[in-house]
Amino acid sequence: MSRAQHLLHSILRWFDSNAYSDHLDTTSRQFNVVRVIPFILLHLACLLAFFTGVSTFALVFAAGFFFLRMFAITGFYHRYFSHKTFKTNRIWQFVFAVLGASAAQRGPLWWAAHHRHHHQHSDDPQDLHSPHHGGFWWSHVGWFTCDAGFAMNEKRVRDWMKFPELRFINRFDALVPAAAAVLIFLLGEALALWAPGLGVTGLQLLVWGFFISTVALFHATVSINSIAHVWGKRRFETSDDSRNNFLLALVTLGEGWHNNHHRWPQSARQGFRWYEIDITWYLLWMMEKIGIIYDLNPLPAHIKEEARQRDAARKGMRYE
Ligand SMILES: [Zn+2]
Ligand SMILES: [Zn+2]
Repeated sequence: MSRAQHLLHSILRWFDSNAYSDHLDTTSRQFNVVRVIPFILLHLACLLAFFTGVSTFALVFAAGFFFLRMFAITGFYHRYFSHKTFKTNRIWQFVFAVLGASAAQRGPLWWAAHHRHHHQHSDDPQDLHSPHHGGFWWSHVGWFTCDAGFAMNEKRVRDWMKFPELRFINRFDALVPAAAAVLIFLLGEALALWAPGLGVTGLQLLVWGFFISTVALFHATVSINSIAHVWGKRRFETSDDSRNNFLLALVTLGEGWHNNHHRWPQSARQGFRWYEIDITWYLLWMMEKIGIIYDLNPLPAHIKEEARQRDAARKGMRYE
């Protein structure tokens, strides 16, 4: 395949991730600059904040949309679509798939397929986003641009392929983020018209509520790949180098308890001790109480006990 063809295919895949999928070299780990252009533009668009200024409303909206989508990513892309740690009906499944898709981290099936691969090969040479193979920047922003990272192995998400609505948002993965951006801009314009006292404009809300919120959300999410396999405590001696990191757990609503998670990925709860703050878990627990989700996988007693014993052993070592 010529370079021009490869370039054209990469551009078409911005709009349709299935375009020329039979031309992908799923073993290639070559960084693809075309895949990263929209991502760079998204970062540059944040600089428009210097022109639009800011308002309290825009800040609150940006934080709220960050929080909502972080929950959709951690609670649903990760704990539901990747690990099936609870059940829900088809409508809620779709609602949270769309909310997750608005984070511009591609579709739920692509996300889950790669995440399942990560658990199978965590920190071994096949792991696409291990910081121990490729370094920090590769694991943070490089791996998803290469053909191996772009492609989705359907066999890994066969359980979800039967839902055409999920396949659709997964295939046209720019659609939901683009629609979210347009709606946010229109909301800002409407507020400028009907509530001028708020000091909001369409462009200002787009910049804060979508661009800045999405970029922050992206970096928080991928820090679990790049940082939570390097920095933090290892309570369990898992076969990978996953870590528990309190700060990351706060920013990612519980995902920072990553060593816990690699020890027992089947659990909907990732904070194993009462003091390990896991906001996603609290929200999932509440959603179960009001009947939106059900059959939350609990943390088994023997893993809870193991955590307690590991902590006691560590403390013992310190005071002896
Ligand atoms: Zn991991
Ligand atoms: Zn996982």
